Amino acid sequence: MILKIIFLAIALYGAYRLIKFITEQDEKPSVARSSQDSAPPSDLPEEETVYDEICLKYIPKSLALEYEHMGKKYYFCSGECRQKFLDTINNPY
Ligand SMILES: [Zn+2]
Repeated sequence: MILKIIFLAIALYGAYRLIKFITEQDEKPSVARSSQDSAPPSDLPEEETVYDEICLKYIPKSLALEYEHMGKKYYFCSGECRQKFLDTINNPY
């Protein structure tokens, strides 16, 4: 009878250690995960904008078409705008 109680105590202790081991193992990655999730997303630097003189609007430089005329750089939102600009240069009337 006493042996049974001791065996049960050991079994319970072993179970307790096992549960503690498992929960500790679970805690570590979850902490790492939550710290990663809470990290703020890196903000993209504000993109440079250029002015399209044909349709009179600002466009991101990365999307703009560049054209140099008389030492000055002009930017356009589309090939259509650039063509209009070229027409204006060639036919100033
Ligand atoms: Zn345009």
